[in-house]
Amino acid sequence: MKFHYSTYRIKLRYPFTIARSSHDYYDIIYVYLTENGVTGIGEAAPSNRYGESFEQIIEWVSGDRFKILPEFEPLDSFIKKLHSRCSEIRSLKAAFDIAAHDLWGKLNDISLCHHFHANPDDTPITSFTIGIDNLDVIKQKIVEAKPYPVLKVKLGTDYDQDIITEIRNLTDKPIRVDANEGWNLEQAQRMCDWLSKQNIEFVEQPLSADQLEDMVVLKGSSPLKLLADESCLSSEDIPSLGEAFHGINIKLMKSGGLREAYKMIQLAKESGLEIMLGCMIESSVAVTAATHLSPLVDYADLDGNILIENDPFTGVTLKKGKLILPNTPGLGVQIREESNENIRD
Ligand SMILES: [Mg+2]
Repeated sequence: MKFHYSTYRIKLRYPFTIARSSHDYYDIIYVYLTENGVTGIGEAAPSNRYGESFEQIIEWVSGDRFKILPEFEPLDSFIKKLHSRCSEIRSLKAAFDIAAHDLWGKLNDISLCHHFHANPDDTPITSFTIGIDNLDVIKQKIVEAKPYPVLKVKLGTDYDQDIITEIRNLTDKPIRVDANEGWNLEQAQRMCDWLSKQNIEFVEQPLSADQLEDMVVLKGSSPLKLLADESCLSSEDIPSLGEAFHGINIKLMKSGGLREAYKMIQLAKESGLEIMLGCMIESSVAVTAATHLSPLVDYADLDGNILIENDPFTGVTLKKGKLILPNTPGLGVQIREESNENIRD
């Protein structure tokens, strides 16, 4: 078993602005695991919201920790052993988990959705994210979002109602709102009441993740469903969320990969929580990985790869917003032939 990594700067079509931050680009890390001449690829898209950084991961993977790797089979124990070398860097755990699954699928000639008992015909429609911007740019983005039947709108500004009013003047498509912890309880109560009259499907993470008690109060009065994102990282968080939210947003970069995300799906279903699969700003490697689990969930917000302009890989595609999985073993991602970036395979 051999390991190497490469780095890549993904550039956004529009600066990506949410309630707490704004970015023109993100630096990501690809990890590669090679066994018997076959290579699996994974991606880490670290988020400083969770105390992670690109530099931290480079320091971690460039040391001796991954020079000698454990036996590849069985897959589960291989992933567990690699994770024990990742400290609590969840996006790095996700990268190794994705690469190990990709390699395992290729070696066993099986597409990952089948490994997770997911029917590729049952993939959901993904929402398309409209980041925070001035109203003129938002108008332009709505025009460009024509191919996507469901919108996810970022709020948490002092002109939230203007944003929704502007969008509603242009389209009656279903809208999901994500406040990214940008409101307090009183604002959230007011906004949920107002939004419930604007054909909004649900609201994601209205309050800060540490305000779980206020979330219980909000759930008691909100006419709209409430989904946990920043409040829900891994399966350990799920038991405490039922009173405060109607559902959860699972992301591989928070869970540490497919294995834990699959466990979260089972647990959320048992707990009566709705499930969305989401992503960070990621390339097609990580977004395709999450898509393999998407037939098992209620909603998808898997658009990170279409918000960037220099994706070096191809994988999942869209047909009228519906996620379409590649029908090849493992993840089914390929490096773009026209990509002249320095990505090794
Ligand atoms: Mg979110």
